[in-house]
Order: sequence, then C-alpha cells, then structure tokens
Amino acid sequence: MLNENPSPTREDEGPRATVEPAQAAPRLSTLYFYLTGDCNMACRHCWIAPKFHNSDRSEKALPFDLFKKIVGEAKELGLTAVKLTGGEPFTHPDIAAILEFLKEQDLGLTIESNGVAITPDLARLVRACKNPFVSVSLDGSKESHDWMRAVPDSYERASAGIGALVSAGIRPQVIMAVAERNKHEMASLAHHAKSLGASSVKYKEFPQNRN
Ligand code: SF4
Repeated sequence: MLNENPSPTREDEGPRATVEPAQAAPRLSTLYFYLTGDCNMACRHCWIAPKFHNSDRSEKALPFDLFKKIVGEAKELGLTAVKLTGGEPFTHPDIAAILEFLKEQDLGLTIESNGVAITPDLARLVRACKNPFVSVSLDGSKESHDWMRAVPDSYERASAGIGALVSAGIRPQVIMAVAERNKHEMASLAHHAKSLGASSVKYKEFPQNRN
C-alpha cells in the first residue's frame, strides 16, 4: 500500500548540526561565608590582618538580606550546608537571626570561631541547626593564648565560649596554633580541651617568622 503521508527522511531534512547533550554541572553542596571582616581578637598570626577594633560588634558585616538572597539562590543549585567564618562570625550584628534562618532552611552548619563572643543563647541557636560542627581556637596555656591573641583575658573568654557550646550539647573541636613558644604545651592543651568537653584537637603551625 502506498503511504500517502510519508515521514521525511534524513535526506529530506538537509544538512543539520548535531548538538550533544550538555554535561550536567556538579551540584553545589557547601558555601563558605566570610560573614564579616571584623574580629574581637588581634592575633599575631592573622592572615587577613585587618585593623581590628577588638569589639564584639562587627562594622564590616555581610548584610543579612544579601546573605538570605545568596542562600536562596544557592539552594536552587543544590546547597545543603554552609560554613561561617570571618573575621569572627559571632560578632556579626545579625548572627542570631542568621542562625535561626539557617535552621529554618534546614541547612547543615559548620562554624570557625575564636569562641569569645559565644553566649549560652547563641550556643543554643547553633545547637538547633542541622548537624552543627564548631571549631574554637585555644592556643595552650593562658599565657600563650593571650600572647597569641593579643587581647587580655581572651583565654578565659574562649574557654567560656567552649563551655557554652558544651552546655548546649555541642562538643566542639579545639584548634591550637602551634609556635616555638607553645609547642611544649600540645599535650597539656589536649588534656585541657578534653576536660572542657571538646571532641577533638587540631594543630596548626604558627607562621615561623612571627614567633
Ligand atoms: S580570631 Fe581569627 S580573624 Fe580574629 S584576629 Fe585571630 S586569626 Fe584573625
């Protein structure tokens, strides 16, 4: 039987370009936010080396509305977690609202902090987030820590921040900057961190030219 409406053949269609399917882009998983350029410490080894005010309030903070916009757009690309650092993220003037927002968004949370501005209320907000992991700096003895951080009583204040986290149900990681002057304190720092309730200790080499 004769086909009255034959389908066009390749020859009928003439020359054509073949377009390969685009390779799928990898999904975005984690975003790092340098929440602020400010910090309440003045560490000798600070790599961003700003002129800090040693204040618990930030003047160089990422606006909260912009933060929310970035997170919203990133979630469309697959975002599942954020890492907050700085400067000192807990000096951000909207840090409480940021933590509540991250909880609402069901995003995993990692924070690097010097611990000084972590209050019991903020620690509870961190604990309410998904899979919170917090690292806090502690550089050996009080004498060594206060020398490294260049702010009096920073050792007691960082230890109090760790205590607030532990009371809220978070066992933070302690990070020690190891220099010539405190390298003999690595073992004692580990014991101290354990006694405070930390889950682990990480050692980082202090830049040798600043010992
Ligand atoms: S706590 Fe971190 S950001 Fe703040 S001065 Fe020290 S190294 Fe710099």
